[in-house]
Amino acid sequence: MKKSFAVIGLGRFGGSICQTLSEEGMEVLGIDINEERVNQYSMIASHAVVGDTTDENVLKSLGIRNFDHVIVAIGDDIQASILTTLILKELGVARITAKAQNDYHGKVLQKIGADQVVHPERDMGKRIANNIASNSVLDY
Ligand code: ATP
Repeated sequence: MKKSFAVIGLGRFGGSICQTLSEEGMEVLGIDINEERVNQYSMIASHAVVGDTTDENVLKSLGIRNFDHVIVAIGDDIQASILTTLILKELGVARITAKAQNDYHGKVLQKIGADQVVHPERDMGKRIANNIASNSVLDY
């Protein structure tokens, strides 16, 4: 059976995850508090809805606990990211990946039970630096 995903926060990071999973043929629900962002993804994701995920009732009404994997891609609003992750955990979501804005944010996300915490900017910086370093070795 196809796995189902929900992506919360359709900024550049969440939007890219939403689009890539959709292109891979996965069932994806995109959620954002911003209607414009939701409209942008309504033709890309299987479903896209407007909602504030810090409201437990919003997540419950979307049947979020039935999704196999939920990605929390809210960045700047650290409070909203933490509260959303906490509610997802309390509702019994099977797998949660959460984006951290900094090390402290990452630590809290891990403590409250995110299964995977990602630091996209830091990790991409490392990858690019490693790539530059290995290419410069080959250049000599
Ligand atoms: P990115 O860095 O991925 O480009 P961004 O800078 O546009 O993202 P962020 O603050 O990281 O913005 O938030 C990502 C998305 O999360 C935004 O589209 C924002 O509307 C959404 N978002 C923020 N708070 C909530 C919330 N409480 N419920 C649902 N979506 C939210």
